[in-house]
Amino acid sequence: MPDRYAVIGNPVAHSKSPWIHAQFARATGENLEYGSIEAPADGFVRAVEAFRAQGGKGLNVTLPFKAEAFRLCAGTSARAAAAQAVNTLVLDRGKPWGDNTDGVGLVRDLGTNLGRRLAGARVLLMGAGGAAQGVLAPLAEAGVEQIVVANRTLPRAQALAARVRGASACSYEALAGQSFDLVVNATSAGLSGDLPPLPKGLFRPGAFAYEMVYGRDTAFLAMARAAGAGTSDGLGMLVEQAAESFQIWRGIRPETGAVLAALRAQ
Ligand code: NAP
Repeated sequence: MPDRYAVIGNPVAHSKSPWIHAQFARATGENLEYGSIEAPADGFVRAVEAFRAQGGKGLNVTLPFKAEAFRLCAGTSARAAAAQAVNTLVLDRGKPWGDNTDGVGLVRDLGTNLGRRLAGARVLLMGAGGAAQGVLAPLAEAGVEQIVVANRTLPRAQALAARVRGASACSYEALAGQSFDLVVNATSAGLSGDLPPLPKGLFRPGAFAYEMVYGRDTAFLAMARAAGAGTSDGLGMLVEQAAESFQIWRGIRPETGAVLAALRAQ
């Protein structure tokens, strides 16, 4: 019998995680199956418990349940505690334990796959939801010179920045006159064709724009290209965070290059 894993979220039908983990399992020879669970907005804990009762060994958690997953855990990694958000649940080692692999996924994609230097960079992180929570501390720890969090609801950005040494928060309007080497869009605005109100002059020469939404050309990517910045969507982060989850569950790190290339070609 294969060991059982799944991604849980709402909505979850669009998720590429089952396909990615099937490739990882095939490449590493691990005997597992990986499905998807759409939990009702008020039924996350019930759905996790039902999966666990059926022998489920681990879950990836996606929108909108990462904070609830953090509260469900009896213990977490330090990076999940810093994020107060969990995207990887371990269910087969006693009480539920949680980790957050989004940050390491982003940092690996930027540094290893895209060849961007984070050390000394001035970084803008847009958004203060589950994704931004997961990546702020790992970005700050990658040696950036300065990191600013901007969010539509300013108090959320302020609360997030207050938890990470060296980070500060501001509104989109207060970004006028500031410029950055790296701008990471961790908002879900691109999913609805929206773009946070960004001032002109945001991108320094040679700057890079990273859009966490993947598989579509968002207004943010178009704006960044028009401003002369390099760009990437979040597909590489998706594959890298999945590889980290796979390693936590199975103790083996899968190769990511071929999986990312195959996804790009799809
Ligand atoms: P979330 O917790 O729901 O947070 C959404 C964030 O987007 C909030 O900061 C929200 O601002 C902001 N926002 C939404 N619509 C906006 C708009 N029209 N204008 C300005 N700001 C807007 O979602 P999440 O979990 O952080 O995920 C964010 C995005 O990242 C999603 O699209 C998700 O698919 C993507 N993601 C990708 C990866 C990957 O591996 N590539 C991993 C994780 C997440 P307020 O606080 O003001 O509401």
